Amino acid sequence: MKFVIVLVVILVVLWLARSGSRRVTRDRPKTPLAPHEDMVACSQCGLHLPRSEAVPGRGGVFCSDAHRAEFERAHP
Ligand SMILES: [Zn+2]
Repeated sequence: MKFVIVLVVILVVLWLARSGSRRVTRDRPKTPLAPHEDMVACSQCGLHLPRSEAVPGRGGVFCSDAHRAEFERAHP
């Protein structure tokens, strides 16, 4: 009988801890979303990346200098 009471107490404590932590997550202010930025595709591999991180080159934009060089070598 003692074991059942201890088990019930443990379950109640766990339930309170879970509902308490859930309340904390709900009250936490939402992290602001990053401002919208255009996505572009690398002309060499098709990888999508933010325009600000793209490397411009002949024939489009690229994910890296290596892909720009590869593309420009293949399309003289
Ligand atoms: Zn690429």
